[in-house]
Amino acid sequence: MNAPSCDTDVLVVGAGPAGVAAAVMAASLSLRTMVLETGPVGGKLHRIGALGNVPGNWTTGPQLAEALATDLQRLQKAGQCAVEQGRAVKAHGYDDRAELLLDDGRVLTAKTIVVATGVTDLTPSDAEWVTAPSKFSAPPLWRATPLGLTGRTYVLGADRPLGTWLRAHPNVTITLHVLCPPTDRYKAAEVEDDSRVRIVPVSHVTITKPMYGDGWTVDVNGEDGARTVYAATSVLNNLGNKPAALAGLVSDKDGYCPPAQQHGRIRIAGDLRSARYQRIATAQGSGAEAVLAYYYDTTLSGGGRIW
Ligand SMILES: Cc1cc2nc3c(=O)[nH]c(=O)nc-3n(C[C@H](O)[C@H](O)[C@H](O)COP(=O)(O)OP(=O)(O)OC[C@H]3O[C@@H](n4cnc5c(N)ncnc54)[C@H](O)[C@@H]3O)c2cc1C
Repeated sequence: MNAPSCDTDVLVVGAGPAGVAAAVMAASLSLRTMVLETGPVGGKLHRIGALGNVPGNWTTGPQLAEALATDLQRLQKAGQCAVEQGRAVKAHGYDDRAELLLDDGRVLTAKTIVVATGVTDLTPSDAEWVTAPSKFSAPPLWRATPLGLTGRTYVLGADRPLGTWLRAHPNVTITLHVLCPPTDRYKAAEVEDDSRVRIVPVSHVTITKPMYGDGWTVDVNGEDGARTVYAATSVLNNLGNKPAALAGLVSDKDGYCPPAQQHGRIRIAGDLRSARYQRIATAQGSGAEAVLAYYYDTTLSGGGRIW
């Protein structure tokens, strides 16, 4: 069943909830398993200060991330899974193998590749409704600590981390001025009753350095066409994200990678599948399912063609 030329049976790209679930499932089926990860094990879990919808009584994301890292260490020690550090750039399926190209030039081969790279942060230059100088960089809201937020804080966008941040800091009394384009209005509904949030509806925002002093000048075109200029001590990024797709995958118009449209040796799991179902439990389920699909396709076809 194992082609000797392949480095592993199952190569998992990304060690977030989807990737770790795929690796645990693959190892449990005695498949040779390798995980490639560019950062810490746990992915987006490290950003979740308050967690309430994952079975197992987890109350924060880092708690669960630590447990997942322990799972991979256990598999590594037992010789059931290799964990490699590195960044994948391209995946390609062939009749007899799948190949993964890394940014350092390495090529890894596998019987199947599970891509679970999730989504990555949008930057101000990705957002059509924001104009900012090239030297402008907004720190992410999810990483902000209440002590670090003094003065007048503006938040670019009303994406979901806003609600998470507020829930994680229930006793903080700061006001967050949230610059909210029409596309984010439905997300703002979740937090608009929180007295610490002031929603500023915008059609366009221009950010510049003030002539004197620190901070930023935030020039807002309102939805009604009215223009207002604010002085911001800090501007935080909460613009949302875009799919972290690899070259070689089939993408839809939004950049997501529908699992059913990929080459037979390439499986997609977790947030990378679509903008829907971006939750930890669904990511885990899809990771495990991607490996089971490969396993049954292979065993039922007697180790021959797998699709
Ligand atoms: C602030 C915030 C709060 C959230 N709150 C909740 C919540 O309360 N409940 C809930 O169910 N969900 C929540 N989510 C969503 C949840 O975190 C995601 O649905 C889940 O983490 C998706 O898992 P994943 O494995 O698909 O992707 P990720 O967790 O994004 O993991 C992807 C992994 O792939 C790695 N990677 C990316 N590109 C490459 C590459 N080229 N090569 C190698 N490795 C790569 C990344 O470093 C990362 O470790 C929240 C998300 C955020 C941002």
